[in-house]
Amino acid sequence: MRDQTDQGHGSVGGPAEAGAVVFACAACGVPLTGPLSPLPAVPEAPYHAWSEDDEPGPLPATVPSGRYAIETEPHGAPLVVAEAPGPVMPRFGGHWNADGKPLVSRGPRGNIVVNPDDARGLELEHAAPACCGASPDGGMNQLCACGTLVATLSSDCAMPYELHLSAAHVRAVRP
Ligand SMILES: [Zn+2]
Ligand SMILES: [Zn+2]
Repeated sequence: MRDQTDQGHGSVGGPAEAGAVVFACAACGVPLTGPLSPLPAVPEAPYHAWSEDDEPGPLPATVPSGRYAIETEPHGAPLVVAEAPGPVMPRFGGHWNADGKPLVSRGPRGNIVVNPDDARGLELEHAAPACCGASPDGGMNQLCACGTLVATLSSDCAMPYELHLSAAHVRAVRP
């Protein structure tokens, strides 16, 4: 599918900011987001006083709607046992295995971090247990309609609320 042929679909309509792109499935070409414009870096996760929160649910999104940012740190699975604790994903604390050994991420770098509310047509396939949302612990957990895993959703109540599009499984197209 070429950029020009996308214009008649109406699914990515609306005036886009200069520099905005739509992320599409690399396997089938279907758009997975609306038009998004780049941020220079992934923002800090918004502060959330969640000890005062009665209702479990996603935290405020790390990335504002309509924007995207490239993650420079490794993210998520596979997690490997390490000598010293380290991040398993940015903006989240350490992880330990059942024996109390620290785990660190050997996951991919270069994920495209977007607001989960900007995604379209993705289906959750649980890869790891979570209490009320989706956990990125098991790796990618978001299926395109064509059946390809394309992204990792983090939406459980104690985690940053983020959708990580896999750089290897999506491509940016002009809206
Ligand atoms: Zn697809
Ligand atoms: Zn939860």
